[in-house]
Amino acid sequence: MNRILFTDAHFYHLGSYYQALLCEDGIVRELYETQPDPGSDCKIVSLDGCWVYPGFTDTHTHSFEGGLYSNGLDLSGVSSIADLLDMVQQHCRSRSGEELIFAWRFDELKTKEGRFPTRAELDRVSPHNPLVLRRIDGHSCMLNRRALREIPLMNPASEILRGADNDQAVHHFHVNVPEEQILQAYHSAAEIALKGGFSSIHTMIGDAQYSNTHYKLIRDSLSRFKVRYSIYPQSFNLDEAISLGASRIGGCILADGSFGSHTAALTEPYIGTDALGTLYQSAGFWESFVSKAHERDLQVGVHCIGDRAIAQINQAYQKALYKCPKDLRHQLIHCELVSDELMESIALSGAAAVMQPAFDQYWGAKGGFYETALGESRWHQLNRFKSLSDSGVRLCFGSDWYITELDVVRGIHAAINHHNPDERISIDKAIDAYTQNAAWLSHEEDAKGSLALGKVADMTVLSGKLTEGFQMTDIEVLKVYKSGELQYAKY
Ligand SMILES: [Zn+2]
Ligand SMILES: [Zn+2]
Repeated sequence: MNRILFTDAHFYHLGSYYQALLCEDGIVRELYETQPDPGSDCKIVSLDGCWVYPGFTDTHTHSFEGGLYSNGLDLSGVSSIADLLDMVQQHCRSRSGEELIFAWRFDELKTKEGRFPTRAELDRVSPHNPLVLRRIDGHSCMLNRRALREIPLMNPASEILRGADNDQAVHHFHVNVPEEQILQAYHSAAEIALKGGFSSIHTMIGDAQYSNTHYKLIRDSLSRFKVRYSIYPQSFNLDEAISLGASRIGGCILADGSFGSHTAALTEPYIGTDALGTLYQSAGFWESFVSKAHERDLQVGVHCIGDRAIAQINQAYQKALYKCPKDLRHQLIHCELVSDELMESIALSGAAAVMQPAFDQYWGAKGGFYETALGESRWHQLNRFKSLSDSGVRLCFGSDWYITELDVVRGIHAAINHHNPDERISIDKAIDAYTQNAAWLSHEEDAKGSLALGKVADMTVLSGKLTEGFQMTDIEVLKVYKSGELQYAKY
């Protein structure tokens, strides 16, 4: 038997800290309130006074895109069009002639011109490499002339592609990645997740209308990754999900779009417009899809951001549950804009709120993006961690990476420092959303999610204690263990 005594640290369990942890064959066997006497057959690992938490789980990522794009061009720091063009030009020069370039996390609102580049500008700096430039929310993109040549079906008239055009363009370039590069993308994503403090991540595979081409490949490779992946066939194809052996279906299959593209579906218009956003499917469509999935014991996850979309999906969940009570834990993914009335219905449907604390950090400031798009009164109804949690809705946190960073310290900091003080949650609740609740979401609460005896010894070692007043810069992720085995060490 492989016995390891982890000592000289603070081990978090249900709000308390212990002094040592005994791991046997990858399983937590004992927690100690004082330093124990190790047996002679025991390997000892000192953790130098650090703070040890159950391995964190990010419950919503797009790891393929994130992994693939980690080798691409990150435009999140761009503040002007000149800046952008310069970066694209330099990046293209560092790549071979024909290599496809993914540029991502572009936010035109952060440029001083407040616009996308023109295609002619992109062509000037990337004449030879096909280039896909994606907006930060993933809901719109641009192609240069060279990339357009590869998708003859596209209508080249509109320079900024949205909706179906956006999906089609991105899909085209993703499916043309060879198998080895697909696996490499997931390995790169796993490395990035470990650095961000995660031992597990949920990841969406495939892109809704089109295919589950990567699902089988990843399903058959799960044991090769350094993190535990929970995989979602991101499609509407129930038969295929069942035949792939999936226990869930969906992910960012879209009930609506995003606030940034004015496609998130609202009950009241966007400020200064009469636009209500877009419901991508009818209520009947979702009710039929959810009830069939529910009948076949598949957990469902759907992307819903605006209140009108959340209500639509929640109602489909509620109807399925009333028709046939089952503990499937369907997911309202993002769940950003919620009125008090809608919150009550969510509590009744038994759905989990799979939310992204960093969204508030980036967009929730007074006078920031959310308030500008939605106005003062709706600013109070965004990312309602505290209210949802108090209503009995299970909160599960993630990053929607590549949209925001895979970074548990950032996520917890954002959740306890919400811009709206009424929606701040306690440090223990924030930790739960990344640990116990995340394990519950994947029906693995008996196996992981805390350092309880009998669960796997997945652990994240931090340099500092997660407390109400911590600063992001004060805490580093130092190590991550999976089943008691070291997967990542910063130093
Ligand atoms: Zn997503
Ligand atoms: Zn989404």
